[in-house]
Amino acid sequence: MSPGSLLDIDRALALILERTAPLEAEEVASADADGRYLAEDLRAAIDLPPFTNSAMDGYALRSADTPGTLAVAGESAAGRPAETSLTPGAAITISTGAALPDGADAVVPIEATEAADETGAVRVPRAVAPDANVRHRGSDISAGAPLLSAGARIGPAQIAALISAGHPRVHCRRRPRVAILATGSELRPAGEILAPGEIYDSNGPMLAAALRRAGAVVTVVPAAADTVDAHREAFTRALEHDVVISSGGVSVGPHDLVRGVGAALGVEEVFWRVALRPGKPLSFGTAGRTLVFGLPGNPVSTLVCWALFVAPAVAALQGAPAPRPAYVRAPLATAYARNPERDEMIRVIRDPSGGLVPARGQQSHQISITALADGLARIPAGSGDLPAGSTVDYLSLSIGP
Ligand code: AMP
Ligand code: MG
Repeated sequence: MSPGSLLDIDRALALILERTAPLEAEEVASADADGRYLAEDLRAAIDLPPFTNSAMDGYALRSADTPGTLAVAGESAAGRPAETSLTPGAAITISTGAALPDGADAVVPIEATEAADETGAVRVPRAVAPDANVRHRGSDISAGAPLLSAGARIGPAQIAALISAGHPRVHCRRRPRVAILATGSELRPAGEILAPGEIYDSNGPMLAAALRRAGAVVTVVPAAADTVDAHREAFTRALEHDVVISSGGVSVGPHDLVRGVGAALGVEEVFWRVALRPGKPLSFGTAGRTLVFGLPGNPVSTLVCWALFVAPAVAALQGAPAPRPAYVRAPLATAYARNPERDEMIRVIRDPSGGLVPARGQQSHQISITALADGLARIPAGSGDLPAGSTVDYLSLSIGP
C-alpha cells in the first residue's frame, strides 16, 4: 500500500461510531448501576433533604433568644424528631441530620455553648444568626428539578444521588454482549506446557479484563487454530453477540484468515488498515447489528487498538455520548523520531513533572515493557524528530489509584 493511502485514525473511529447505536434500555436497581449510562432524563422525585434539619450536633433554638440561657426541653435525634415544638426561651437538643423542631430557626453547635447550671439549662454566650447550621428542605435539590440526564455515567456519587432523590430503579442501556476470539495455532491457554513454537494466549485474557472494566458481558471463545474450519466455527459462534473482537490473523500472511472467513460469513468490511503504529492491520466491519473488530495479534497492537477504537465503541453501545479516548495534553520529555506514514502510539512513563518519557522498547510484541508504562503518547506522522517539549495527546493506561 502506498504511503498516504492508509486510513487516518480519527476517521477510522468516526466510521466505527457512525455504525454504533446505543443498545436498548433496561431497568436496573440504582444500587447495581455502577458504570452504566442513564437512558432517561431524571428529575428528583422528592425534596432533598426531605425535611429541614440540623448540620451540627447542638441545640435548636430561636435566634432571637440569643445570647442567653435557655431551658432544655426535649430532644430531636436523627430518625426521631422532637414530639413538641420549641417554646420561646427554650432549646431542644439536636443531632446532625435530625429534624429542626417547629418554632426553631437556628442551631448552635455544642462547642459554642456552656452548661449553665445543674438544672440542665444551656448558656449560649454569643448571638446565633437566623438559619445558622440549618439545612433547609430541598436545599440540595427540590422535587421536580433536573437530577441527571440521559447519557450520564453512573458511579458511586450518582448512585447516592439517585437513591437519595427517590429513584430506587433507573433505565440504563443494557450491557453489550461481546465475544473475544483469539486466533493462532501457536496459542496455548495460560498455565499449560508450551511445545516448541507455542506461546500463551495473552490477548484473550487482556481483552476480557478490559471489556469487563468497560461494562461488557464477555464470552471468551476458545482460541481458533489457523484453519478455515476452526475460524468458521469460532466466528459463527462469536457472531451471535453484539460485538466480536478477534485478535491476530488480520494481516497479509498466508495464515491470516480472519477477513476472508468473516466475509464468507456475511461480515461487511468497513475498513482494513489504519495509519497507526502499532495496529496498522486493524479491520472493522458489521454483520447486521454486530460490530466486528479484527485486532492485530501483537499484544501491544491489540491493546492500542482496544483503547483507540474498541473502547469508545463499547461505551457508545452503552449510551455514552460522543465517546473518544480520554486524551490529555502533555509535553514530550525527549525528542522522538516521527514515522513518515503513521501516527504512532508510543508507550511512555510520566516523569514527576508530568513530562512523557518514551519507554525503552517500542516494538509491538513488547507487552512486559508496556506493563511498566503509564500510558500512550500520540506522535503524529511526519518527518524528522518531534522535538522535546512538544505537547502531544496522552492517554493514561492507569488502572486506578
Ligand atoms: P498475527 O497477527 O496472527 O500474525 O500475530 C502477530 C503476532 O502476535 C504473532 O507473533 C503472534 O504469535 C502474536 N499473537 C497473536 N495472537 C496472540 C495472542 N492471543 N496472545 C499473544 N500473542 C498473540
Ligand atoms: Mg496468527
